[in-house]
Amino acid sequence: MALITLENVTKRYPAPTRGGVPLVAVDDVSLEIEQGDVYGIIGYSGAGKSTLVRLVNALEPASTGRILIDGRDITALPERELRKLRLGIGMIFQQFNLFSSRTVRGNIAYPLRVARRPAREIGSRVDDLLSFVGLTDKADAYPEQLSGGQKQRVGIARALATGPRILLADEATSALDPDTTQEVLALLRRVNEEFGVTILVITHEMDVIQSLATKVAVMDRGRVVEHGDVFDVFSRP
Ligand code: ADP
Ligand code: ADP
Repeated sequence: MALITLENVTKRYPAPTRGGVPLVAVDDVSLEIEQGDVYGIIGYSGAGKSTLVRLVNALEPASTGRILIDGRDITALPERELRKLRLGIGMIFQQFNLFSSRTVRGNIAYPLRVARRPAREIGSRVDDLLSFVGLTDKADAYPEQLSGGQKQRVGIARALATGPRILLADEATSALDPDTTQEVLALLRRVNEEFGVTILVITHEMDVIQSLATKVAVMDRGRVVEHGDVFDVFSRP
């Protein structure tokens, strides 16, 4: 059984103008993402990639279709169950979304505090994460004192704090220069290999898919127009 299954998922937003037609952001998408995959979703701006991620994270409901995680339909879960589900899904963002008023340590600890973990456990967990992302010496720094690559490493550590099985990376390297991008991609590869975390990589950059993902879906105007192994999809005539 796939870890994440999308069955004929559609997301419509109300028409932008009165009496107009609804905007179809995600249009009848079916996908299967296996445990341990690094799965890329590529497409131009406006293709529906971010909307798809919000649906998988249950931040928004799908209009129609089913989304199964571990065989369980998440489209019908009550809010309390959804919160539990989200603890099992980490997210990283293009603009890092760090709390500027909290230190690196405070940022990484945040999801553990929300999950009401005991203080002692939080301390040792954060130390482990700092070491994993190579930022032990920056534990007491504030985000504004960090480079872009360092900020994203904090983002990754925070996303991993609750031990999620799934990591959603939405344009996670799009604000970084090429060298820093490679550094962050190498770290994501380790997240997948060492922790077995399934990673969904949303990007408009082919290079990111080719250096990180093993499978890919190509989105265009809400639809998945092609999907399969990265090598096969990109070598098709
Ligand atoms: P991508 O991530 O590929 O750039 P998005 O998922 O952000 O694409 O957007 C897909 C389409 O849905 C776009 O036309 C966008 O304007 C529209 N859209 C996204 N979010 C909303 C929203 N909250 N309300 C209305 N329209 C939206
Ligand atoms: P504050 O504690 O200042 O009210 P917010 O709740 O407004 O902070 O969140 C600030 C930013 O951090 C938002 O963009 C939000 O999406 C992001 N954020 C909050 N919690 C997490 C988390 N666990 N993982 C990743 N980003 C998060």
